[in-house]
Amino acid sequence: MRDGTRVVRAGLPKASEGEPFLPGPVFAGTYGFSGETGTSRYTYGRYHNPTWSFFEEALTELEGGPAVVFSSGMAAVTAVLGSVLGARTGNVLVMPSDGYYTARMLAEGYFASHGVEVRKAPTAGNAQADQLEGATLVWLETPSNPCLETCDLAELIGKAHKQNALVAVDNTTPTVLGQQPLMLGADFSVSSDSKGLTGHSDLILGHVAARGQEWADRLRAFRTQQGAIPGPMEVWLAHRSLATLEMRVQRQCENAMNVARYLGTRTEVLSVRYPGLSRDPSFGIASKQMKYFGPIVSFVLEDKEKADRFLTACKLVITATSFGGVHSTAERRARWGGDAIPAGFIRFSAGCEDGEDIVEDLSQALDAV
Ligand SMILES: *Cc1c(COP(=O)(O)O)cnc(C)c1O
Repeated sequence: MRDGTRVVRAGLPKASEGEPFLPGPVFAGTYGFSGETGTSRYTYGRYHNPTWSFFEEALTELEGGPAVVFSSGMAAVTAVLGSVLGARTGNVLVMPSDGYYTARMLAEGYFASHGVEVRKAPTAGNAQADQLEGATLVWLETPSNPCLETCDLAELIGKAHKQNALVAVDNTTPTVLGQQPLMLGADFSVSSDSKGLTGHSDLILGHVAARGQEWADRLRAFRTQQGAIPGPMEVWLAHRSLATLEMRVQRQCENAMNVARYLGTRTEVLSVRYPGLSRDPSFGIASKQMKYFGPIVSFVLEDKEKADRFLTACKLVITATSFGGVHSTAERRARWGGDAIPAGFIRFSAGCEDGEDIVEDLSQALDAV
């Protein structure tokens, strides 16, 4: 089956007379349960929930490995770091220096202070390859956020496995339709589902898909013990949203490409990055391992004042953080600190609006700068 069909049908039970296609959310703290443990599929709400099971089945089908859903992308990240590294001396984590900010903070804060050695190298140029000796876990994120650098997943995964390291890929930006880490050999595909996967900017959620059942079981045990479980309503909304993933991603990527091309024609824009532009430094690797280039376009205006004036002048594009939603958004990323970017750096996320309206809005806002 093709992607467009798979996302519509993923995880649904066989249609049956008088039943909805996707069963509604099950709200349960506890379930009727007599007899010994192991005799009943559902016992207590922190351990399992039928709504999670349907969504996890959907993700398992799409990712190509057993998936576990978490209350947020960071809970998913924490589960992988916690299960693989523990908080103990002697383990080595290799991270991208330009990866997702909060993941870096968690590694360099909590895990480093409990004895994990954290090494960092940039995403571009496969620089993490030089840090692999003795590594326990290699963390990759491509395209990186917000600078959209890429690294060669198959090559780095091969090198890491030669060192007996496990490899996790933060696949949030491309989503499982855009890039398939498990197919490229990764041990974990990690995602914040608060972004493009669910795509409506109305929930916080995350998941991990593992290469084998053993790691999935360990991640599930981590979730049960640590307690970062998702709410059934969020998971149900996420499963409902999954059906339109291919249509959304196609439209967003088409819009992002047009925006990137248009921005390149404007003299106010000092530089533009989009992995789908054939002249972009990320294009070579991206076109080899990605099916879609993602919704994010990064560009730089001269300074903070011009960037702020641009955002204020936008009428359609909403100033907001995050990305991957159906609404086009943009923000001056340096307001957060923590990333090595110029003050006038804008992260734009293409939504599903009509592309001509988006370009017209950006055009009039750049005129106002
Ligand atoms: C947002 C994001 C996360 C964290 O996800 P939350 O759902 O906000 O906890 C992790 N990695 C990347 C690349 C992200 O964009």
